[in-house]
Amino acid sequence: MKTQHQHSKKPAPEVEVDMEPITVFIEKQRKCLMCSTVFQSEWAGHRVCPKCRSRSSWREGVA
Ligand SMILES: [Zn+2]
Repeated sequence: MKTQHQHSKKPAPEVEVDMEPITVFIEKQRKCLMCSTVFQSEWAGHRVCPKCRSRSSWREGVA
């Protein structure tokens, strides 16, 4: 007769995911889509440097 050891697996501790509000946009450096110049982005939809924005008729309405 063999004694079988029963594996009593402990439930893995649930990892608490601390969700950060992604709505908060932090100002960061972005690369201009037009001239690849690194500039300080003011908002999420800001993809072109102020120079290019004023130069070309860059529309603010982001699709
Ligand atoms: Zn630019």
